[in-house]
This record gives sequence, C-alpha cells and structure tokens, in this order.
Amino acid sequence: MKPEKIREDFPIFDERPELAYLDNAATSQKPESVIDAVENFYRENNSNIGRGLYELANDATQAYKDARSKVAGFINADSDEVIFVRNTTEAENLLASSLDFEGGIVLSKMAHHSEQLPWRRKADEEDKNIEYLGTENGKISIKSAKDKIDEDTGLVAISHISNVFGAENPVEEIIEIAHDNDALVVLDAAQSAPHRPLDVKDIDADFVAFSGHKMLGPSGTGVLYGKKELLQDMRPYQVGGGMINSVEHDEVKYADAPERFEAGTPNVAGAVGLAAAVEYLEDIGMENVSAHSKKLAEKMIGGLEEIEGIDVISPEGANLVSFTCEYAHPHDVAEVLNQHGVAVRAGHHCAQPQMVELDVNGATRASPYIYNTEEDVEKFLESVREASEIFNAT
Ligand code: PMP
Repeated sequence: MKPEKIREDFPIFDERPELAYLDNAATSQKPESVIDAVENFYRENNSNIGRGLYELANDATQAYKDARSKVAGFINADSDEVIFVRNTTEAENLLASSLDFEGGIVLSKMAHHSEQLPWRRKADEEDKNIEYLGTENGKISIKSAKDKIDEDTGLVAISHISNVFGAENPVEEIIEIAHDNDALVVLDAAQSAPHRPLDVKDIDADFVAFSGHKMLGPSGTGVLYGKKELLQDMRPYQVGGGMINSVEHDEVKYADAPERFEAGTPNVAGAVGLAAAVEYLEDIGMENVSAHSKKLAEKMIGGLEEIEGIDVISPEGANLVSFTCEYAHPHDVAEVLNQHGVAVRAGHHCAQPQMVELDVNGATRASPYIYNTEEDVEKFLESVREASEIFNAT
C-alpha cells in the first residue's frame, strides 16, 4: 500500500495539504470517486425510485439496486439481507424497536452509546433483565461471556472492534456461546467494516450494523444486515410509502425485506456513493487496509509509551490508539495537537460507562486510515511530546 499515492485521491488533502487527519474512527475522508458518484447521480440519474414508469426512474431504481448488491457482496450477504439506514445508530434503533424475543439482554461495558441505549430502553419498556460483559486488556472478556450468557439470555449485543480500544473482540467465541444458548447476536461493526474483511456468513452474527461514512462513503449512509428468516418475522420500524404490497381500508400487507424496513424515499445518491466507497476499498483489498492501520497504530503506541506522563489504553494489535496524559485533560492535549495540524478526538467517545470503569475522565484518540503516512505518525508523536512537556511544566 502506498498511502502517499492514495492521499492524492482525496481532494480534502489538496485543500489542506498539511493536515494529519487521525480522527477516522469518527468519520473518514472521501475519495474523488465517491464524490463523483454522488454528484453524477444527481447530474445524470436523479429520480425517485421504485415506482416510475419512465427511463430515468428505471435508471435511478437500477442504480439503487446495484448499490445494494455491491454492498451485500462486500460482506458476503444476499441483497435482500441488506437494509440501507442512516448510520449504525439507526440500525440499532430499528432492530431494538422491531425485534421481538423472549429473555434478557447481554451488553458489554465497552459498548458505544448507540449500541447500548436502544437496548437499555427496550429492557426498561419490556421489563427485561440486562447483564454486562466485562473488559479484559481492551477486549470483551470470554470468562464474563461464559458467566453471563445462559438459557435466560434472549439477545447479545457486542461490538466487533471497540472505538475506545481499537482491538478485535473475540466475537466468534461469544457468538458460539450465545447460539449454544439460543440467543440472538447483534454485532456492531461500525469500527470493523471499514478496517477488516467482514464475512457475515463466516462470522454468523444474526444482525450486523455499520456506518458508510466511516468507510469512505457519504454521511447519512449505513447498513443493517439481518439473516433473511429473522427479517421476515420483524415488524417494520417505520410505516409509509415504498414498504407495502397492498393497502386496503381494513388491511395492510407489508413488502418483504429489505423494502419493508425502508419506508419513504431513501438516500439514493448516498447508496450510490457507498457502493463507490466499497469499490475503492475492494480495489485496495481489506487485508491491506487492516495491515496498514495496525502498522501505524503500533508505531503510535510504541512512540507514546516512551513519552513521560502518557498512559496508553489501547492494547497491542489495536488499529487505533487511545491514551491519557497524567498532567492534562484529553481536550487540552487535543488542542495542542490541533495547533500542529493533527486532528484527533478527545472525550468519552460515547462510551461513558467504559470511561468510569477505566477511572478516567476521557481519553485522546488517534485513529489512522488508508491515507495516513509515517509522516503523520511522526507529526502526531512530536505534538504529543510537546503537549506532555507543556503540561508537565505547568
Ligand atoms: N458503534 C461504534 C463502535 C462506533 O464507533 C460508532 C461511531 N463512533 C457508532 C457505533 C455510531 O455510529 P454512527 O454515529 O455512525 O451511528
């Protein structure tokens, strides 16, 4: 992989050549091909989809269908198992309000709020029990999965890669434990779909959620994958146009998945842009994407460990690095980095319960992606060194 070459495909770096953008876990930048795909859709193919009887409407409908099959192929799903949503948050909310199941809910302490709150609300409303899986060295503890998942569990919601730690959780083992207890599994793949090959058949989660905007796609795009037989039994999340077979005064027949869960006019241009993003990533190869992020994160972790007052939270093998500075609030560290053109995230990363568990008031997080270079890493480490010196002295 040649990140310097890849960088040339991203117009934002023409505008801001000095920018070391290391906030990719929040959202990624967009290559020319994605921007073009969205723009060309509006220039050449724009129409509402699904019901037009003219050529332009058919072309728009076909573009949306093609986008769905491209994204389905990316995760080895069938097209009708891929529901387009706005983001991971919407995917989790859709599921929590549409899925009926018996038994309690198992979440993890490291869960992002958007993976946690929809299920906590469901538990409140339906009087379901909630258990939490613990964290061990930046990963969900298998021991706690064995302890907490049992025949009373109805659903387990876990993240593939945490946005705080950046390490891959042992999800295959947890999914097996859940299935042995007849529990359903929802996998939050917001941080894994952009960074590693994702094969839903192989991994065998019942539902998988991820966001397009974190993997080069446009904002307002995301995916909920669900096993066909489960989607068919689910109540639609929203009702309205585009999701019915027939409506009579006394009866409504809903369409099958995925249309059943996509009421109203969808984000057609966004889906087309997401398909272009998938194509870009496939051209690079997800194994290469994964190796690159991990290599840069490893360098950052190694460098940070040598700086006085810095505590690294992410474990070895992570694809991002979260850290704290003994002498300063994470926001202050991020501000020093900002002054050097290094963009990182600081705060609780929408995982407040995990921050309480770590006994920190937040963390600074640097998350690399395909266009980040060794030079970005150097710049990052240099600015953290400076931050540590400034705050150590004050
Ligand atoms: N889960 C994880 C692990 C995340 O990192 C994020 C985004 N930070 C989300 C869920 C929510 O994603 P979105 O804001 O795109 O809905």
